[in-house]
Amino acid sequence: MLILKITGVEAIILNTGSKRKVSDALHTYDAGGCVVTKVFTDEGITGYATTGIGRVGATCDIVKVILEKELAPLLIGEDPFFSRKIRQKLWGSADYHGVEGVAQFAIAALDTCVWDIVGKALGKPTGLVVGAHRDRIPAYAMVGWYYETEKEYVDRCVEAVEEGFRALKLKVGKYSLEDDIRRIKQIQNEVGPNIRLMVDANQAFDEVEALTRGKAYEELGMYWYEEPMIPQHKESQARLSAKLSIPLAIGENYYTRYEFYDAVRTGAASIYQPDNRRAGGLTEWLDIAAITEAAGLKLASHGGGPANVNALCAIPNAIYLESGSLKNQDNSMYVTKLKMENGEILLPDTPGMGTEVSETFIAKYRIS
Ligand SMILES: [Mg+2]
Repeated sequence: MLILKITGVEAIILNTGSKRKVSDALHTYDAGGCVVTKVFTDEGITGYATTGIGRVGATCDIVKVILEKELAPLLIGEDPFFSRKIRQKLWGSADYHGVEGVAQFAIAALDTCVWDIVGKALGKPTGLVVGAHRDRIPAYAMVGWYYETEKEYVDRCVEAVEEGFRALKLKVGKYSLEDDIRRIKQIQNEVGPNIRLMVDANQAFDEVEALTRGKAYEELGMYWYEEPMIPQHKESQARLSAKLSIPLAIGENYYTRYEFYDAVRTGAASIYQPDNRRAGGLTEWLDIAAITEAAGLKLASHGGGPANVNALCAIPNAIYLESGSLKNQDNSMYVTKLKMENGEILLPDTPGMGTEVSETFIAKYRIS
């Protein structure tokens, strides 16, 4: 049986320019490098995926080379409806140098394109095609960065609540515990008790420090405590988890179902947060969802956008979409625009993954 045939792959590098400088405990972000992947078919249906890189340069170039030179020849001639066969084939080709790292960015992008094509071919959002659980997902705003000014931190959090978000995530761990407490209380005073707050330490602590700080976040009523330590220290994370009642959240830096499986078996956290680049696309997300659900655990996305909304709407144990502001979507790369009602982001009715990128946007920012 053959329904559609893949005829080509194109990877385009965009530089969307320098952004407002924001930091977490360990990293600073201010650049807009992105790879847009297109997969073409014999019926004229094109699948899209976007891979945010956060910097312009070698990483974007390597992802493009892997996509076009290594993986594309294996994909051409395949039927997008055979997504699990495609996943296995791409893995097989990448396992000599390793399927993690940027190779997984490329595999994940192709998986997203494949599912975009399937949804488009059937004329339905992919979240429905794979078996939906809901048509909307609660969203929290990732706005509590360390900015250049303290005023901006407060303003962005207040604006997100005014926009309709009912949960906000705050970065912690860059400075002292006293500074964390001050930052948390500042936002609690501004937004009131009905807005849920989560904290994210971005791997800043060792186990002792993570416990001391975790108790403080717990007392302040934080909803979850994200990435206290290096996520590869799974046993350490499990010991911490056992000593705290605040749920630990982890997973944005885990690659593929196997690392999630190890973390779940170790008892590393209660909430798992796959990232669309590292976790490996929708095919892999659905299996990660099954692994976490079978262990009685919850799942939230790392990152937002239409692809993640489609995935989370098909995942029964999903609790949150991470999102930036939905204002100014007229300038966003996606043709599909997201809508929020009562703090929840609606599954877009666009056929496919909602990942199609506007050609005007591509023309404006393309560098390669
Ligand atoms: Mg995080």
